[in-house]
Amino acid sequence: MSERAILALGGNLGDRKATIKAAIKDIKALEGVEVIAKSPLYESFAATENGPDESAPRYLNGVIEVETTLKPGALLTAVRKIETAHGRVRLERWGSRTLDIDIITYGSLIKAGKRLTLPHPRAYQRAFVVVPWAAMDPNAKLLGHGSVAALAEDLQSQVWEA
Ligand code: ADP
Ligand code: MG
Repeated sequence: MSERAILALGGNLGDRKATIKAAIKDIKALEGVEVIAKSPLYESFAATENGPDESAPRYLNGVIEVETTLKPGALLTAVRKIETAHGRVRLERWGSRTLDIDIITYGSLIKAGKRLTLPHPRAYQRAFVVVPWAAMDPNAKLLGHGSVAALAEDLQSQVWEA
């Protein structure tokens, strides 16, 4: 049994583009994971608890679609290892990082767990997730929120194509 999943990648430290490219290569190399599609990359201001921080290093973000035989927990463990391999240090929530990988959706799974919530609870309001996702797949739907392209249209002004 395999499922389609959407993964979001982003970072605001170091050579962001090289890091994202290398991370996608690492994801491709995972046993039981196939990369089906990649979005363009978009730049945006860092999001903090208090809104966008224009003085912080800017983020570069993109999303990919994968087909995987890994269960959601195993997929999270695998992408966490890739974050760590690319030098992510977990200092504070919302803090700057070389690489963040989130699972946005996993098939049609709905789950609110301690380690994993699916769909990702903030995905619908994040321009840097929905804008690249809509560019990759104009017909995509986000469980509970409908058309990703419609979400993207409202948030488009918060990101720019890199
Ligand atoms: P964020 O991605 O919110 O900036 P982190 O990457 O540090 O912050 O993740 C915070 C926590 O979110 C992690 O401990 C992880 O277990 C949890 N988490 C919950 N749902 C998800 C998801 N869908 N994808 C990735 N991490 C998730
Ligand atoms: Mg994360």
